[in-house]
Amino acid sequence: MTQSSITAGPIPFGTAFTDHMVTIRWTAGDGWHPPRLSPYATLSLDPASVGLHYGQIVFEGLKAYRRTDGSIAIFRPIDHARRFQSSARRLAMPELPEQMFVKAVADLVREDGRHLPDDHNLSLYLRPVLFASEPCLALRPAREYLFLLVAFVTGGYFADQPDPVSVWISRAYSRAAPGGTGRVKYAGNYAASYLAQLEATGAGCHQVVWLDPVERRWVEEMGGMNLFFVRGRGAGAEVVTPELTDTLLPGITRDSLLALAAQAGYRSAQERVSVEQWRFECGTGVITETFACGTAALVTPVGSVRDGAAGWQVGDGAPGPVTLALRDALTAVHRDRTADQFGWMHPVH
Ligand SMILES: *Cc1c(COP(=O)(O)O)cnc(C)c1O
Repeated sequence: MTQSSITAGPIPFGTAFTDHMVTIRWTAGDGWHPPRLSPYATLSLDPASVGLHYGQIVFEGLKAYRRTDGSIAIFRPIDHARRFQSSARRLAMPELPEQMFVKAVADLVREDGRHLPDDHNLSLYLRPVLFASEPCLALRPAREYLFLLVAFVTGGYFADQPDPVSVWISRAYSRAAPGGTGRVKYAGNYAASYLAQLEATGAGCHQVVWLDPVERRWVEEMGGMNLFFVRGRGAGAEVVTPELTDTLLPGITRDSLLALAAQAGYRSAQERVSVEQWRFECGTGVITETFACGTAALVTPVGSVRDGAAGWQVGDGAPGPVTLALRDALTAVHRDRTADQFGWMHPVH
C-alpha cells in the first residue's frame, strides 16, 4: 500500500490506537489463560519468539459502528471468529474459542467506544492477532502463543468518498498457491504481496490485481480485497464475483454483498472471469462496472486496468450505480438505517 492510499482524511489508517488492548496467552499445558484488558502498551518479547523467525502469525480485521441511537454495534464478529480459527488451524496454531473472541472484541469496544465520534464517516477498526511467542527455534509448531487485540478509529481505508482506483495486473508475482495459505489471513501473505504492490505503484496504478497462480489467466483479488464485476445495467444487472478456491480469501464483505445483491433483486453468480473476458467485455459494454470490497475500505470502484502495455477503462471510469447501491445497502446495515435482516450486527451494551 502506498502512503497516499492509506491516508483517510486527517487520520492515517492504523496509527491512532485507542487506550486499551486485550491480551490472552495460550500455553501447551494450560490452554487459553484468562483474558486481560489493560492499557495499550508495548510488549516485552523474547528475541527467539517463534513468530518473529518462522512467521506463525494470523490476524483478523473487523469493525464496530456507531448507530443512530448512539449505541455501538460490531459487524459479524462470529464470522470473523470462525475465520480466525480456520487461519490458526492452517498455521498449526491453537484456535481461540468463538465466544472468547467475541467477548474480547465486545469488551474492548465497551472500554474504548468513547473514542468513536458520532460521525457516520468513522468506524472503530478492531485488529486481533495471534502469534507464536515461545522462545524456541526448533522447527515445529510453538507451544506458547499470544493473542492481542487493539483498535483504532478510521475513516475508511482509502477515502470517505469512493474514488475509483486504477489497477495493475501482476504477471510476475503470485499472492497464493494451491495448497498454500491464500484462503486464510496469514501475516506472511501480506509481506509477500508488497513487492507486487510497489510494481503497481511504479507503473502509476493504485493497486495490484492478482491472477490465479496456475494458468495466470483468472482474475482473483485486488490487493487485500475481493473483486466484483457487474454485467448489464439497471434492475437486470448481474453481479459476478470469482468463485472461492484455495487461492482466494473468503471475504466477509464479499459474502455480505452477495446477500445484499440478492436482496436488492440483482442476479448474482460466483464464477471465474478471465483477464481476456474482463478486457473484451469492458470494450463491448457487457461489463459495466468493477469494484473491490473488504472490511477496511468497504466498496472501492475500479476505474481502469493496466496489463503490461495494454490498458482499458471500466465503464466511463466513474463509480457505477450498482457499485454505489451495494455500498449504500451495506453502510445502511452498519449504521442502522435499515433493518438488520441477516442478524449481522452485534450490539455492545
Ligand atoms: C481480509 C482480506 C479480504 C477481505 O476480507 P473481509 O472479510 O471482507 O475484510 C480480501 N482479500 C484478502 C487477501 C484479505 O486478506
